[in-house]
Amino acid sequence: MKILVANIGSTSLKWRLYRFEGEEERLLHKGGFERVEDYSQAIEGCLRALAEAGAAQGPKDIDAVGFKTVLAEGVSGCVRLDEGVLRAMEAMNSAAPAHNPPYIAGIRRFAERMPGVPLIGLFETAFYRWAPQAAMEYGVPPSWREAGVRRHGFHGASHKYIAERSAELLGRPDVAERAKRLYADGGRTPVNDPPLRVISCHLGGSSSITGIRNGAAVGNSMGFSPQSGLPHNNRVGDLDVFAFTFMMRRAGLSLEEAERQLCREAGLKGLSGVSNDLRETLAAASKGDSQAKLAIEVFVHEIRRWIGAYLVMLNGADALVFTAGIGENQPLIREAVCRDLDGLGIRVDPDRNAAARAVEAVISPDDSPVKVLVVPTNEELVVAREAKRLLETER
Ligand code: AMP
Repeated sequence: MKILVANIGSTSLKWRLYRFEGEEERLLHKGGFERVEDYSQAIEGCLRALAEAGAAQGPKDIDAVGFKTVLAEGVSGCVRLDEGVLRAMEAMNSAAPAHNPPYIAGIRRFAERMPGVPLIGLFETAFYRWAPQAAMEYGVPPSWREAGVRRHGFHGASHKYIAERSAELLGRPDVAERAKRLYADGGRTPVNDPPLRVISCHLGGSSSITGIRNGAAVGNSMGFSPQSGLPHNNRVGDLDVFAFTFMMRRAGLSLEEAERQLCREAGLKGLSGVSNDLRETLAAASKGDSQAKLAIEVFVHEIRRWIGAYLVMLNGADALVFTAGIGENQPLIREAVCRDLDGLGIRVDPDRNAAARAVEAVISPDDSPVKVLVVPTNEELVVAREAKRLLETER
């Protein structure tokens, strides 16, 4: 069975094609286009690249296309992306303006270009189904709650991959198996004692932190929308909602303009005044730019706040894991996050940390009570496996 996973950004298309045969999982091809203006052309280019590489000879050679879909009203888990689900995604466009519209447009293009090929979405919210209710509710009026205002949590595919892979790396195949089977059996796969407690830090253009007990999430730093939690590249992160209404009145902003500013001009870009790419902000900070330095300090502070939250929720941790563009590639940020946490058993070896770039690595000293790991994420594999499972259960 061949599953193509399409990762759709607002101006990019990246893909990975997997083949599943018995127990074997193989990545057959990966590629992508940046600065995409015409999605139909990009899909054409993707199919051409797959054919030229001998990986798939056109749509008939692909069993399904999987998508890392973000948010839909009343829909989560792994589902066929029919018109009803696309409308449920559209209903949440205002909560995920950077994510849902490009995904919906891209999925519609795939449906046109590859008729008859199942299109399957694994929602980023799926991993939080087992989180305690107390971790997912806001103190809003009942009518808001009835309208669906609650924490959803995001980055589910990435944190689920970290749950699986970290358990393997930590010598807990029982927990790895439970994490892998979580969506299939709802967490009924038995595990041994003691429980495995992992704090997963997905730090990238978009960032979130999740506490994971025995392969299942206990919550996520993102809430109702993927603009919340940590400051993101250009999205705000957590903000007192009354600052929103204050600025609308003070600056005479329309609702749309206030939303736009918080989704495009905020986060690390807004804080630093430099860039939405942390590499440029770090470069500016190293040259003495005080606003860039502050942006990095706020980012690190917020990461530590959420690590603290999950240390409490999990009653300690066995491992702290860094993943995604920043987590995998930025020793400076990892060092700053872990500084002066030896009282909590978290220590980083400077040489191991400096050497770990985009590879799996242990960056804590051998005697550190909490293992600190770098684990490159693999969200596409999680999507492909779940798409395969859906097709198999339908058959
Ligand atoms: P992601 O959303 O996971 O692609 O991560 C994007 C972020 O990761 C950007 O802010 C970059 O600063 C950072 N990043 C990506 N690749 C690297 C790299 N090779 N070295 C340092 N930072 C990187």
